[in-house]
Amino acid sequence: MVGLANRLINRPILATIHTEALNHNLNRVRELAPESKTWSVIKAKAYGHTLQAALQGLGSSDGFALLDLEDAQWLRDNGWKGRILLLEGLFHQDELAIAQSLSCDLAVHCESQVQWLESFKGSLTKPLNIFLKMNSGMNRLGFTPAEYRTAFHRLHAAGYPMHHMTHFANADQIDGLPSVGGQVDCFNETIEGLQPVPSSLGNSAAILWHRNALGDWVRPGIMLYGISPTGVYADIVRSDLQAVMQLRSEIIDIQNLKKGDHVGYGGRFQAPEDMRVGVVACGYADGYPRQAQDGTPLWVEGGGPDGESIVCPLAGQVSMDMLTIDLREAPNAKIGSIVELWGSEVPVDDVAQMSGTIGYELVCALAPRVPVKIL
Ligand SMILES: *Cc1c(COP(=O)(O)O)cnc(C)c1O
Repeated sequence: MVGLANRLINRPILATIHTEALNHNLNRVRELAPESKTWSVIKAKAYGHTLQAALQGLGSSDGFALLDLEDAQWLRDNGWKGRILLLEGLFHQDELAIAQSLSCDLAVHCESQVQWLESFKGSLTKPLNIFLKMNSGMNRLGFTPAEYRTAFHRLHAAGYPMHHMTHFANADQIDGLPSVGGQVDCFNETIEGLQPVPSSLGNSAAILWHRNALGDWVRPGIMLYGISPTGVYADIVRSDLQAVMQLRSEIIDIQNLKKGDHVGYGGRFQAPEDMRVGVVACGYADGYPRQAQDGTPLWVEGGGPDGESIVCPLAGQVSMDMLTIDLREAPNAKIGSIVELWGSEVPVDDVAQMSGTIGYELVCALAPRVPVKIL
């Protein structure tokens, strides 16, 4: 694998990013939210999928939403002329001029950001769109309903084009509190009587399951990457979304165990019979979760009894650079067999479930040492 990602790589591990799947998933967003424009959320380097892949696969978005000015700069340098939303607005006052030069839209969630904008209004060279963030119950960022209207009036009076924005805490849950309905009621009551301006509400879970709570601009993240907001892969299948990141490696060694032998650190897995265990060149320093339990699925190309590909269970503690799989069902697995850690054969949602986390965390944590190929 020489030259992928322009590096000399000898270790057989590769993350492939399928940009046509990104485009497919964006089209699904469009079908589910036909009345809304789309901010494709590409924070955390497009949830670990790289900005380059995002620009390639999501180039028909109405805008990109992200956190870092550096990423906004990258998009502009690479030809993106559409809108860019800084989801948390500015972290320091002196970033205002840069945000303006990059033509970013700004989320505004706190009093100091309002003050910076008020004092900046004389320096405006072009309109700077504001997405005023309401805390409608999540209690993370945003103005409480009591503060919101004042902030709105101040920025409106300062001449900024305004938009309303709020974020749901539980759009992926059936009975979580605050509920989507409760947050929407709070939102509607708070903006009542204000000048009518565009709104932005729906994240992926709302687009999938609360289509009366989207607003003029939706903000899908995880579903663009073919991963479930709930962590349940069946949701993705039902919603016709496609996996985007495929993480693959190879078997680099095989151990022939005797019944009772232990495998790896802590000897967590003990052979219940004589058996083969495959050693795969992927570990937690690549972003594979160390918390993965025995039984976590791994796909072995051509490993089955008739040379078919087969899913085998993790056996033993994941180490830094390697993990081990139970090859009892895979007599044709051999050194050099390709193993999928997650992707189209092994849903990242399933790996996450077996590791006590969600797919978001795994793809975001793909390690820089893993070479990436954008298809
Ligand atoms: C991350 C984020 C999103 C996207 O959420 P998903 O669950 O990935 O769809 C939307 N809005 C805001 C404010 C966010 O921070």
